[in-house]
Formats: sequence, structure tokens, C-alpha cells
Amino acid sequence: MDLIIISIIGNGGVGKSTFIHQFCYSHFIEEYDPTIQDSFRKQVVIDEDALTLDILDYYYCEDWTDFYKQMSYEKTHGFIVVYSINDKNSFNELENFLNEIYKYKKVYEFPIIIIGNKNDLEDQRQIKKEEGEEFAIKHGCPFYETSAKTRYNVEESIFTLLREIRKY
Ligand code: GDP
Ligand code: MG
Repeated sequence: MDLIIISIIGNGGVGKSTFIHQFCYSHFIEEYDPTIQDSFRKQVVIDEDALTLDILDYYYCEDWTDFYKQMSYEKTHGFIVVYSINDKNSFNELENFLNEIYKYKKVYEFPIIIIGNKNDLEDQRQIKKEEGEEFAIKHGCPFYETSAKTRYNVEESIFTLLREIRKY
């Protein structure tokens, strides 16, 4: 598999676009323009193999059709499901995002990682790290807290997902 397609999903505002931008360009953006769907391409070397990564970034809006989503999900090899540690609502929505993956992929085991982003905002924390871990264990997924601002665990988490995809 030379081309790997990853989708990053989760509530609006959790930092999906910023996270991908940090991964691809090593740079933090204060204000990201929401987009319908944007894709980022990056070459990576993992365990001595060169791969091309396509990362699909979604912006959920009302005219987002089921058909369009299905097309994107179908070609996806692995998902990054994101909440932010200062947004309880984004954490509560995780289950819905996972159910959507199961629905489109028609399987209950698939390469997925769970991410609690914005871990630099410790003073605004609403979700304990243990809660994130517990949720991820329950669903059999690797878990990371990350910061798209400081780059903390950004590469580590994506590389873990890539290894899951290669095992799958
Ligand atoms: P998206 O809707 O999930 O794509 O979220 P965005 O990437 O647009 O990010 C929403 C806001 O959160 C932006 O103002 C980002 O600068 C900010 N942001 C994203 N990630 C982080 C992070 O890890 N730490 C902090 N402090 N801010 C972040
Ligand atoms: Mg975005």
C-alpha cells in the first residue's frame, strides 16, 4: 500500500485542521478557515518504507450529503477521531462519530485512533486524561492527548495510526 488515506473527524472547533496543518507544515495557525473538505498530502517514511499520505479534513455542514460522505469514508484506510480536552460536548459526541465509521465501513474493527487535543490548555480542562483513556480502551483504539499548538504527540499519534493500518 503506497498511498494511505486518512480521515480526521470530530466536532467543529476541536482543532482538526490545525492538527493536520501542524503535522504537514510544522506550524500553528490561530484562525483556520473552515472548509467543506480539504485534503493534505505528505510523504512520510515509516519503518523504512516511503509512503504517501492523503489526509481528508472535513467541515460538517447541513448540505453535506450522505452520498458524498460515504464516498470519502469508503476510500479511507484509517480514522483520527478528535475531541478537545476543554470541550465536554466534543467528548460526548465521540460515540456518534465511531458509530458513523462502523455504519459506512460495515465492520466493528478498523484502524482508528482517539485524540484529546488542546492539551496545552490545562487550565481549561473539562475531560480528565483517564476519561479519554477509558473511552479508547472500551473501543479498542490507541489514545493520545495532543496539542496542535505545541506539536505534542502530533507525529507520534499519526505514526501509531499508520502502524495500525499496516497491521490491518
Ligand atoms: P476544526 O473545526 O476542528 O478544524 O478546528 P480548527 O483547526 O479550526 O481549530 C479551532 C481553533 O482552535 C483555532 O482557533 C485553533 O487555533 C485552535 N486550536 C486548535 N488546536 C489547538 C491546540 O492544540 N491548542 C490550542 N491552544 N488551540 C488550538
Ligand atoms: Mg476545520
